[in-house]
Amino acid sequence: MLEGKVAILTGSTSGIGLGVAKELAKLGADIVLNGFGDAAEIEKIRSGIERECGVRVAYDGANMSEGEAVRGLIETTIEKFGRLDILVNNAGIQYTAPVDEFPTAKWHAILDINLSAAFHGIATAVPHMKKQRWGRIVNIASAHGLVGSTHKAAYVAAKHGLVGLTKVVGLETAGSGVTCNAVCPGWVRTPLVENQISNIAAQKQITQKEAAKEILAEKQPSLEFVSPTQLGGTVAFLCSSAADQITGTAISVDGGWTAQ
Ligand code: NAD
Repeated sequence: MLEGKVAILTGSTSGIGLGVAKELAKLGADIVLNGFGDAAEIEKIRSGIERECGVRVAYDGANMSEGEAVRGLIETTIEKFGRLDILVNNAGIQYTAPVDEFPTAKWHAILDINLSAAFHGIATAVPHMKKQRWGRIVNIASAHGLVGSTHKAAYVAAKHGLVGLTKVVGLETAGSGVTCNAVCPGWVRTPLVENQISNIAAQKQITQKEAAKEILAEKQPSLEFVSPTQLGGTVAFLCSSAADQITGTAISVDGGWTAQ
């Protein structure tokens, strides 16, 4: 379905980004991985996807907290592959504290990586996608792009901002062959959430298993984690022709979290 297409996934050395990258590669897309981590481990991931899926897989370590680096990632990919068809803005970080104790540096870091990076990437990719008359922009927002929770001021603000950015870009690209949508996952058991589970386990002196159950019971009626593979399927659907008229919207994959 995606043979001959080129996809960039920011923050794809782990978790959701990696899961989505694998699903798009299975459908034949060439992939540009991005994110931090151990160089040997990243190379293993890169060559593994290339071998298993028979597609080209490149890695670019651009830092998504720097606007110029984000723009460079898009430009370098277009130079290297001659095109860019799919941009998945996924890189993200989390930090929790009450608003009056929230460190300013963490506020800026979260806004830069979780929101501004998507702006820079989209601004650079859109002219190219419009010229091709085909493009798919998928912003990995969150249930926290639609509703709030305590102690997540920066994250919730950034994710609501990302849903807003999605609407504007959907409108500005309407009818051009380019679509822009947000995917809003509930809890997915990745390193980002594992840290939060560990914090709760430590605070409440309970096991990891009990803390995991607790976060699901608090927010996610299905009581089951969403998987990166399921999110890959959602992104693949948005890249299909069935989704040609889906734009500017936010799709929840959250086990019922935001239905409450
Ligand atoms: P993760 O920690 O497993 O992965 C984050 C990825 O982003 C990693 O590859 C990391 O190296 C990369 N990254 C972090 N800072 C970066 C930077 N400055 N430049 C480039 N790459 C950087 O987290 P995840 O859970 O897979 O989260 C991915 C996205 O999904 C995030 O935007 C997150 O907010 C969102 N999300 C996660 C959940 C969840 O429950 N895990 C739920 C909703 C939304």
